[in-house]
Amino acid sequence: MECVFCKIINKELPAYIIYEDENTMAFLDINPVSKGHLLVVPKRHYSKLSEMPIEELEKFFKGLQNVIKIVENKLSNHYNIVVNQGEKAGQVINHLHFHIIPRYGYEQIFIWNTHKLTEDEAKEVLKKLGKI
Ligand code: AMP
Ligand code: ZN
Repeated sequence: MECVFCKIINKELPAYIIYEDENTMAFLDINPVSKGHLLVVPKRHYSKLSEMPIEELEKFFKGLQNVIKIVENKLSNHYNIVVNQGEKAGQVINHLHFHIIPRYGYEQIFIWNTHKLTEDEAKEVLKKLGKI
């Protein structure tokens, strides 16, 4: 098994585990963006959220919510939840993981390159989605 996160879950690789239940585990990211940057993972290997059966998703989300409550109580009430899905979106590890990034100030950690939505662009997207 090549997956780093599966190895952490199976205790074959060390990690700073902060939460564990039957379906979910959370540990510190080894390259934190902020103090307390965590990764929350389902114990069963899935690459994408879309692949998870809904019953497993429900159990995983219970664990995720428990972790979020710990973060709110012990670290900060302000945090970002980030899920990178697919290589082009920055997913490096192929095991589904939710980044929880506690925030303590207004530090800039994400750059959103936005532009004003045009009618042409909106119509193009709606067409692709079969909505017009
Ligand atoms: P992503 O780019 O969304 O796939 O994020 C992968 C994350 O996993 C990165 O933030 C890495 O720092 C983190 N990471 C990689 N290996 C480990 C590890 N052994 N223990 C904890 N975090 C890790
Ligand atoms: Zn895995």
